[in-house]
Amino acid sequence: MKQKFLTVLLAIVAAFCLCFGLAACGKDGDGGTGGEGTCKHQYTADNVCILCGEEWGYTKGLNYVYDEETDTYAVGENVNASGKVILPYGYQGKFVTKIGRLAFSGYDGTNSFYSELTSITIPNCVTSIGDGAFALCTGLTSVTIPDGTTLIGNSAFFGCDGLMSVTIGNGVTEIGNGAFYECRRLAEIAIPDSVTSIGDGAFADCSGLTGVILGNGVAEIGEGAFENCYKLVEVWNHSSLDIREGDRDNGEVAHYADHVYSGNEASKRTVTDDGYIFYEDEECLLGYCGTEKSLTLPAKSSYGDDYWIYQYAFYYYDVLTSVTIPDSVTWIGREAFRGCTGLTSITIPDSVTGIGENAFEGCRGLTRIEIPDSVTSIGSCAFYNCSGLTSVTIGHGVTEIQFAAFGSCSELTDIQFKGTVAEWQTIQPLWSIFTDDYTVTCTDGTVDEKGNVTYFD
Ligand SMILES: [Zn+2]
Repeated sequence: MKQKFLTVLLAIVAAFCLCFGLAACGKDGDGGTGGEGTCKHQYTADNVCILCGEEWGYTKGLNYVYDEETDTYAVGENVNASGKVILPYGYQGKFVTKIGRLAFSGYDGTNSFYSELTSITIPNCVTSIGDGAFALCTGLTSVTIPDGTTLIGNSAFFGCDGLMSVTIGNGVTEIGNGAFYECRRLAEIAIPDSVTSIGDGAFADCSGLTGVILGNGVAEIGEGAFENCYKLVEVWNHSSLDIREGDRDNGEVAHYADHVYSGNEASKRTVTDDGYIFYEDEECLLGYCGTEKSLTLPAKSSYGDDYWIYQYAFYYYDVLTSVTIPDSVTWIGREAFRGCTGLTSITIPDSVTGIGENAFEGCRGLTRIEIPDSVTSIGSCAFYNCSGLTSVTIGHGVTEIQFAAFGSCSELTDIQFKGTVAEWQTIQPLWSIFTDDYTVTCTDGTVDEKGNVTYFD
């Protein structure tokens, strides 16, 4: 009995210390200069600052679950929460120290649905974020995990595809399995020194990641923690783990890396004011971290040169509606625009010499595409499953159209080729176009889907 009491007391003391002992426990972490009107607020469980009396404006009407062991509340399931949600410091006079399992998830354990949460403010008193707490909250664009939080649960931010910025507080020690799995718009992440363990698949399929900083406390990176982070080219390793470029150990964090630094070396990536991420090493456009939906790509790279579009550059940026590529672009990398289902218009200039495999796969909104004379090679599955595509113009420079380049383009009937029938036949592209009924119009005749030729008079 005494033992139990002691445990409860310790828990209360811990909660108390956490919320009053740290200067950072308040909405004004920097506190200003201390003049009138600036206060390093320290909130009680009644959501009132003990220093200045100001009340913390939090979102009312949320569900909570009482935890007897700690005598605190956890945020319960709030699947209908929408817009901006500010969590309280306390509820019913007790501190709120946890965000419960699936609390705001777009998944209720059986079904997934559209979460309307767009913003979450987490007070410093929250020590743990439960499993799946924000899973599939695709409307979240940024999240700050406070220094008071120690645990980010399994799948906590799973599939938060709109998340562009994540700040992990300096108190976090554990990042759960799949915690940020498939957060595809996240371009960079800094793991603070407090983190010792990064779970299996924690950042897997974060295909937008281009740089990662690993803090000095990281002792374990779980299996596949950074799997399929295809353009994660720079890693700053401040831990004692032995991490090398190309290595598949340590959660594959450096599998695709060109550089693993041990100090505070300057990045070789540059982010322009409008969100384009250039990478001088490869003379390429690595990705985009802006919010525009209609893009005219920069005329020159951030260092003033022609460039190519790196693999996965705009992968599954599905809000993208149109892209104009300038004539300084030389190549479109593999999967560069794959899954951009909202894309209805793309302009490819006469400077591009090749289109990589799967580059536009699944761009179902495209209806027509014009491939300029400069392009010599169209990669396999480059336009696979562009099911809205009805018309394609292919320049006379093409010498290679690889397997299934236009596979599953079920509406594609009109193909214009700017070379002769004889040239079309040397490309032998019939097996890369899998629609039932199409005609290729060449300069001197037509070729149908069975290869029958009709020459013009
Ligand atoms: Zn105050």
